[in-house]
Amino acid sequence: MKSAKNIVAGNWKMNGLVASLEEIEALATLIDTSAAADCDVIVCPPYTLVCSLAAMKKQKILVGAQDCHVAVSGAHTGDISALMLKDAGASHIIVGHSERRADHGETSALVHAKATAIYIEGLKAIICIGETEAERDNNQTEEVVLGQLKESVPDDATPENTVIAYEPVWAIGTGKTPTVEDVAEIHTAIRKALINRFGDVGAGFSLLYGGSVKPSNAKELMTAKNVNGALVGGASLKASDFNGIIEAYR
Ligand code: PGA
Repeated sequence: MKSAKNIVAGNWKMNGLVASLEEIEALATLIDTSAAADCDVIVCPPYTLVCSLAAMKKQKILVGAQDCHVAVSGAHTGDISALMLKDAGASHIIVGHSERRADHGETSALVHAKATAIYIEGLKAIICIGETEAERDNNQTEEVVLGQLKESVPDDATPENTVIAYEPVWAIGTGKTPTVEDVAEIHTAIRKALINRFGDVGAGFSLLYGGSVKPSNAKELMTAKNVNGALVGGASLKASDFNGIIEAYR
């Protein structure tokens, strides 16, 4: 049975600060993948920069995108397909981020369809799940998270084509994080659900924690039980911070 791979993924979102070719080249050049021997480093820039970042062929940085359409091509103004992202050099695509679920009304059923579209292209889906603050206050964290997991993850998911990112909505960009114990508890519940559904293979999925990860809390969060890395927003925009997080796996 293969154990889960460690991953640190940066989600640059729609941040103007790094949305020029010059800035992204400077930032990518500073990312030090050698800081962690046993860890995949993925950077997910805005769509317009996927191609440029991939073309830099910076050793060991994998390039991801932040969303895709379910269709391969067609009359979908403003959308981008997994095939196009593959062509641009992406290996991973984030789907189901809470900002897309909230801003674009994306349901778990749609996330499931997008993951399937990603598998068809031979790419890897980073599927995000997580509860809101109100759901947490209502003691519904596990129910919500496991419900999203079940509905968002296709039956043909494998550790090779899928990464799961647990991101409590209330922790994203707020500076607040759950306790390490809380993170370990929900990650263990996610791991159990994956093993129940996929058998022993379920132990091999990488489970990332996301939400206000920074160099000062990275090590304790990323080495909690059943945590195999982090999905990082704000702190991935500054190379020194991102490197500090990668170093947690040194
Ligand atoms: P944050 O974002 O690290 O800025 O909290 C995480 C994410 O949304 O993936």
